[in-house]
Amino acid sequence: WQRSPADVSYRRFATETKQADTPVDKHEFQAETRQLLDIVARSLYSDQEVFVRELISNASDALEKFRYTALSTGEAELSSKDRALEIRITTDKPQMQLTIQDTGIGMTKEELISNLGTIARSGSKQFLEQMKNEKQASDAISNIIGQFGVGFYSAFIVAQRVEVYTRAATPNAPGLRWSTDGSGTYQIEEVQDVDFGTKIVLHLKTDCREYADEDRIRTVIKKYSNFVGSPILLNGKQA
Ligand code: ADP
Ligand code: MG
Repeated sequence: WQRSPADVSYRRFATETKQADTPVDKHEFQAETRQLLDIVARSLYSDQEVFVRELISNASDALEKFRYTALSTGEAELSSKDRALEIRITTDKPQMQLTIQDTGIGMTKEELISNLGTIARSGSKQFLEQMKNEKQASDAISNIIGQFGVGFYSAFIVAQRVEVYTRAATPNAPGLRWSTDGSGTYQIEEVQDVDFGTKIVLHLKTDCREYADEDRIRTVIKKYSNFVGSPILLNGKQA
């Protein structure tokens, strides 16, 4: 008798053990989102670095939302006394990772699904409309990406895998991890030790490893951060 993967009782045991430890929810991207991700991930977009602008602007929006909510509710979890309202960017060259973290409003599970799993923003809808009219020539795609912007999804211009760690600014909000390689599905699971706010971890494509270089990223941040109202730290120092 051999314990083979085809043995049903063995397989079931393995699956149940895994699920009891870390329940992982698998979700499919909405069809339009999948289409958009596919185009963004495969495009040889010349102005790659705009992803930094998009992720910093989302972090900045999240901090603004936090400030506003903290002021209007006055709840303890929302007290800004206990948290520095800032954007923390870290580079890890050996691991080819770039991380963009904010101490802002964070997201609930429902918000992760509706904000990162579907296309709500009008720019992205327009983008797809426009895509249908072009013959998908790469220079046309670049123009359209530049013209409309693709928000959060621009991460996939440079990343082969994206993880989002987030914790909403509400009582007892759990830490959540959202992750995908940009193909059809994404996963959501509860994880321990997640800070309030949102942390986006980009696992860079090999040919985009330059964005894990501190000096390179500092130059890009300087270019795009004029409009940002919160401090930006790069590897712990004012960028
Ligand atoms: P837009 O910023 O135009 O709404 P994006 O694609 O950039 O579009 O982001 C989609 C949504 O995802 C945002 O509206 C927001 O609700 C959510 N989101 C993205 N990044 C963050 C973040 N760092 N913190 C909280 N929510 C975020
Ligand atoms: Mg945005």
